[in-house]
Amino acid sequence: MRSKLVLAASERPLPSGDALGATVLDHFAEDVFDISKMATCLSKPTFKKLMGTMQGMQALDPSIADEVASAMKAWAVSRGATHYTHWFQPLTGGTAEKHDAFLDFQDEKAIFAFSGKMLTVGEPDASSFPSGGLRTTFEARGYTAWDPTSPAFIKRHSNGATLCVPSVFCSYHGEVLDRKTPLLRSTQALKTAVTRLMSAFGFPVSPVKITLGAEQEYFLVDKKFYLSRPDLIQSGRTLFGAPPAKHQQLEDHYFGSIPPRILAFMTEVEAELWKLGIPAKTRHNEAAPAQFELAPIFEELNLAVDHNMLVMEVLRTVANRHGLFCLLHEKPFAGVNGSGKHNNWSVCYGDKNLLDPGSNPQENAVFLAMLIAVIRAVDMHSDMLRAVTSGIGNDCRLGANEAPPAIISIFLGDQLNEVIEQIEKGAGRKKTAAGQALRIGVDSLPTLQADTTDRNRTSPFAFTGNKFEFRAPGSSQSCAGVNMVLNTIVAESVDFIADKLEKATKENFNSVLQGLLKSEITAHKRVIFNGDGYNAKWVEEARKRGLPNLPSTLEGIAPLLSSANQALFAKYRVLNATEMRSRYEVFQEEYLRRLMIEAGIAQEIAISMIRPVALKEYAKLVGGLAGDCRALKRAAMELSQRLDALDDACQKMENALSSQEPKALLSALQTIRIAVDAMEKIIDDTQWPLPKYREMLFVY
Ligand code: ADP
Ligand code: MG
Repeated sequence: MRSKLVLAASERPLPSGDALGATVLDHFAEDVFDISKMATCLSKPTFKKLMGTMQGMQALDPSIADEVASAMKAWAVSRGATHYTHWFQPLTGGTAEKHDAFLDFQDEKAIFAFSGKMLTVGEPDASSFPSGGLRTTFEARGYTAWDPTSPAFIKRHSNGATLCVPSVFCSYHGEVLDRKTPLLRSTQALKTAVTRLMSAFGFPVSPVKITLGAEQEYFLVDKKFYLSRPDLIQSGRTLFGAPPAKHQQLEDHYFGSIPPRILAFMTEVEAELWKLGIPAKTRHNEAAPAQFELAPIFEELNLAVDHNMLVMEVLRTVANRHGLFCLLHEKPFAGVNGSGKHNNWSVCYGDKNLLDPGSNPQENAVFLAMLIAVIRAVDMHSDMLRAVTSGIGNDCRLGANEAPPAIISIFLGDQLNEVIEQIEKGAGRKKTAAGQALRIGVDSLPTLQADTTDRNRTSPFAFTGNKFEFRAPGSSQSCAGVNMVLNTIVAESVDFIADKLEKATKENFNSVLQGLLKSEITAHKRVIFNGDGYNAKWVEEARKRGLPNLPSTLEGIAPLLSSANQALFAKYRVLNATEMRSRYEVFQEEYLRRLMIEAGIAQEIAISMIRPVALKEYAKLVGGLAGDCRALKRAAMELSQRLDALDDACQKMENALSSQEPKALLSALQTIRIAVDAMEKIIDDTQWPLPKYREMLFVY
């Protein structure tokens, strides 16, 4: 029966339709109520006020809400929308929406209406979203509020469309229940700190912009295989599957030519994303078979985070239309690479990227100050970066030989490392003279070549020419948490540097800066590691350096409970102690629930799918034992042993399931997998009830 499945999966619908060509450009952002549309739909004063809000300068003026709502509705209805929703990001990790029709009545006549109040505030029941204790102490009511810094957009389905209003989500008393609110707050904190720093350097005030480019990795499997794998359906990953003879050892997939069916899928994904104004730019095969990547052009952080949530959704929906299933789990297949989400982050001041080494000594000085701020921040708070990349899926990926380890370290590359070493040694200091252009260890930095800074793929946190690339986040994770932490901890370090520089005089500014950079490098260089992060020796070396190594979720999220961390996030008004604790509880609960689901479905598959097939085969073998066939006897003996092993494994799982103890569950999952995978190798291939790795990873 499985061979039929393989045949069916290989009968691929051939990509059809006309090539989209340049016409797709005409559709770019057509489903977004963006600035150009606002400019034509709104009165001049309203447009101006709204622009002020969008640039984060002013709160939304309630007096313009009605006009904005009415224009937005008229536009959305003209594009086929009948409903609207506040689109928000609860702590489930996904997005949430509750649709309301624009429907209303006027003089007993049905009309479409949308008021300023409907646009700005929504009131979904918060009680069904994870709140980590906030719900029991506070009212169940929750509020969503429009985030005007991210434009409204239209989401389409087969026979309709919905206006989506990006929103924040909080409880009746204002406790944060989502991922967007703290992200926005952390962005504000970092902007304030950077403004201070730049003013200490004597730069005129300019807008600060945090940028993000989120590279998204994913797997595609044929939907027919997916639907025959209860483990994939229930847990997002394969809990069983013997390693195939060929997996990724030939390294023939990465950057290989993209198969036609996949390319047709990618083309449609991009067309959909472009309509939503999402600048999908790069597509390629990834290292594992059936693994791919999509990278957009970087954008302002909040928008880029929203866009990444939409990228994941569009990947899933378009895959479905193509008879495929998109797996966003961090490790859907054991033994081949897992999927990450590379978080490329930088800070702009006006149109200058502060992580781009400058073209003059003053710009170089700012660059080095920012660089040292990031190094200091990551060294002091790597535990928090780890906390927000924790999760049951990423536990299977981090440190598993093809992803950065759970130890957070920074890669700078040889060139920059040399610069840092020079500063620490104090080279060039003598040259510094008051009133002269800044000299911080080196007169001017060499031009850093992006390709020489980006060779080390084993580092979780790499400087890549003009940005930092954080590679620990998992493919299914929202970028919101990661960047909330990054912004906050860097804000603290930038403030630390600004504090010192503000106290310096014009005369001693250079030497204060020089001394500061030197002392901070000495204090925090332990976090810099340019070697091979996959090497087991690094674990030992990192331990000697005192770097935290938090290999799994339950340890990984513990830093959310530390009072020092809580004080830091409270100081920057990103999350208060209660909100931090509630997050810990939500993540812990989610981990335990998912683990129980994995264990439950593994047990069910073993008992109700694998065992019956094995028993039937065993009965067949035993039925023929009357003869004198050695091979038959041996086969019966071998299968009998493996059946016993499976039985023991199921018993172990039974105990683990009733104990609900994480360690016991993890160990039982491993044991039951070994028992089932061993059986897969000997059972009649036509009878094996699950699609195999060699099929799922190669037939598409
Ligand atoms: P790779 O990491 O695969 O070599 P690239 O260097 O081209 O790929 O870029 C990876 C991602 O980094 C892209 O999404 C790109 O838009 C983004 N990126 C480039 N510059 C910046 C920046 N200044 N801030 C944030 N992201 C950036
Ligand atoms: Mg990259």
